[in-house]
Amino acid sequence: MSNNDYREIIDEEEVTRNTGNDTSDISTEEKKEVAATEGEEQQDEKETEYEDICYICRRPEHIAGKMIKIPSNICICQDCMQKTFDSMNGSGFSMDDIFPMNMGKMPNISMINLSDLQGYVPNNQKLKKKKPKEKKEAVIDINKIPAPHKIKASLDEYVVGQEHAKKVMSVAVYNHYKRIASDQKDDVEIEKSNMLMIGPTGCGKTYLVKTLARLLDVPLAITDATSLTEAGYIGDDIESVVSKLLAAADNDVERAEHGIIFIDEIDKIAKKRNTNQRDVSGESVQQGMLKLLEGAEVEVPVGASSKNAMVPMTMVNTKNILFICGGAFPDLEEIIKERLNKQASIGFKAELKDQFDKDENILQKVTVEDVRKFGMIPEFLGRLPIMFTLDALTEDMLVRILKEPKNAIIKQYQKLLAMDEVKLVFDDEALAVIAAKAKEKKVGARALRAIIEEYMLDIMYEIPKDDNIGMVTITKDYLENKGAPIIAMRGCPVIEETVRPQIAAGN
Ligand code: ADP
Repeated sequence: MSNNDYREIIDEEEVTRNTGNDTSDISTEEKKEVAATEGEEQQDEKETEYEDICYICRRPEHIAGKMIKIPSNICICQDCMQKTFDSMNGSGFSMDDIFPMNMGKMPNISMINLSDLQGYVPNNQKLKKKKPKEKKEAVIDINKIPAPHKIKASLDEYVVGQEHAKKVMSVAVYNHYKRIASDQKDDVEIEKSNMLMIGPTGCGKTYLVKTLARLLDVPLAITDATSLTEAGYIGDDIESVVSKLLAAADNDVERAEHGIIFIDEIDKIAKKRNTNQRDVSGESVQQGMLKLLEGAEVEVPVGASSKNAMVPMTMVNTKNILFICGGAFPDLEEIIKERLNKQASIGFKAELKDQFDKDENILQKVTVEDVRKFGMIPEFLGRLPIMFTLDALTEDMLVRILKEPKNAIIKQYQKLLAMDEVKLVFDDEALAVIAAKAKEKKVGARALRAIIEEYMLDIMYEIPKDDNIGMVTITKDYLENKGAPIIAMRGCPVIEETVRPQIAAGN
């Protein structure tokens, strides 16, 4: 090794020693600072590698433009921010516009479909749009309303008997719709023809109203007065009847305003006698109904029977809604008899005291005064100017109900068996037996179906077993459990029931 080489090694050592002394001179604080700046630089370098992404629409910064940063490291693009403000300002917006295609990929939010939330109002709670005013034509065209005799003729096809009731209703309905169609600009304002029907149960009150509404093609709501209570008490409040009509009119307010509301069992809201408590389901309901019957703007829930915060509301005017109330009014006959007997026993023409006791049609002699005595308040009766009674069904009428109306019960069974190519015949005597049995039950025509059902069960069960059966005749004996129906085979003369005793035996 030469001297020069040694000198080089020494020089190098000196240089290292000098630099080592320099570093030891820098204070520890300065050291920290240097480290921090180095860290930030590294962080910045990393951040610039990644671009911000909008928290709402998930578009990156190079597409959506400069992001706005909000606390918790959330970035939102300017478009989304604008839409958020717009929505706050009340301008309707669609969630779909805000979340174009990446909605499903959003963490945490993907399991909630916000569009579903936006459309949470079910269809039956939405209102049908009113038709634009300028195009508006009269909903009821006077020329299209059938004349009373035509209305009655149509009712005749379905409803047996009850001639007086059908006539009164036809005229009242005709006048009601004429009243709506008239422009009411002159002084003569035609009064509303609300009706009160009085008749025993099962004599066709509901059936008449249903048939009428179908013929006129107007919405109909049927409610039971027994469920009604004064607002605020348990039960349906009175305005719920209008809500039902709105539902029957497919939430079309205009159509509902020309509809019919039938309130059954109206006698159940008579004033309660001998009560000290507040009569929330009697007199109060009558009071509450006054304004509805006369015509008022009522606020009703759409698609629900009670008002609550989640249900949209709408206004319905009841001025042109036809109200028909019906009830059996038990004991009303006694009140009528009492009045008639009192009148008959006064003066020279005094007659036998019990002469009205056997009068079957005593109900027809009813007056407003009798109904008031029964418990209906005068203001209520005053708003039902047309009052009429229906007859109790006689056996003859029941027989006719079995076979005559367009959709008579017997016709329905005949149609069912005709599908199996079997002819069903009822003897006249058999029909009389069914009518007599129904009359005994004292529920009017309602009993007919139950009785026929009972006897038809075995027939409907046995007949399809044998393809050769061509005709079945229901006889009086079968109904009185003394024999079997007469069975006739296809292409053969009528054969006696002995051939098919199993039908009678029901096995
Ligand atoms: P209510 O008088 O108690 O309201 P409904 O009108 O409900 O009795 O009658 C019950 C059923 O009896 C009806 O669905 C209908 O089929 C039948 N009915 C009652 N009366 C008649 C009638 N006069 N003509 C034809 N069917 C009737």
